[in-house]
Amino acid sequence: MKWISFEHEGKEKYGVYLEEEQAAVIVSDEQGAPSTLVAAIAEGAFLEAAASKAAQLPRVGKAEITWLSPIPRPLKNVMCVGKNYRDHAIEMGGEASVPEHPMIFTKAPTSVSAHQAPIPAYESLTSALDYEGELAVIIGKKGKEIGREEALDYIFGYTVLNDVTARDLQSRHKQFFIGKSLDGSCPIGPWIVSGDEIPDPHQLAIETKVNGETRQKSNTSQFIFPIDEIIHVLSKGMTLEPGDIIATGTPAGVGFAMEPKGTLRAGDTVEITIEGVGTLSNTVES
Ligand code: MG
Repeated sequence: MKWISFEHEGKEKYGVYLEEEQAAVIVSDEQGAPSTLVAAIAEGAFLEAAASKAAQLPRVGKAEITWLSPIPRPLKNVMCVGKNYRDHAIEMGGEASVPEHPMIFTKAPTSVSAHQAPIPAYESLTSALDYEGELAVIIGKKGKEIGREEALDYIFGYTVLNDVTARDLQSRHKQFFIGKSLDGSCPIGPWIVSGDEIPDPHQLAIETKVNGETRQKSNTSQFIFPIDEIIHVLSKGMTLEPGDIIATGTPAGVGFAMEPKGTLRAGDTVEITIEGVGTLSNTVES
């Protein structure tokens, strides 16, 4: 199943996306539907029932919807793993910067945006806006002290995330928070693919293109810290909850590490494709 949130006739809805029909099945109008996809994920049984009868539910064509992030307003910050691909750690800081433990930072909920939403250029704030193509995990059930062997059972599904970063703000303010949290700098989507459709999240090709040119090309098999370890470490003393978003890191090839630099400019289109998940596309606008 591809779970989506979208706007239709001025109202926020959620449902299932049918790729072959290029249509959105509206689930949120059903009797007893939780108000948001996150609330529905937390309830579990409602989504299972909706999935089983999706074929009978009303649908609207792709042209009639505006994409929203599958989780338009996360309940907490988006958690991100920094330097989870060895080649990216080395391009940013050399061999010494390859981490021994997962390096975690976050992005503000207000940074979240959708597939096809413009990425603001913030030309007066930054001259080094960069892209980072990433696989993101959506947590499906509440848990703490989650063991590695059971960690994948806590996942609802997977999506594509662009960890857009203002490199100059990231380094100027020491902590990453400001440089990672500009409004619109966390496009997510187009959908969440349910976990049952991704038998092995550690064998997925990932590719980022800017204006059609391949910039990042790797595979999640290259993670330094696999997803089960990330969930285990995060949950040791912190409760993970349904709808929590964890971005798993980006491979080598970010614009800031290129010579000459390939950071983003107004008009650039970034497309991130992850095998079995989908393609997230956004254009930078001034
Ligand atoms: Mg990142």
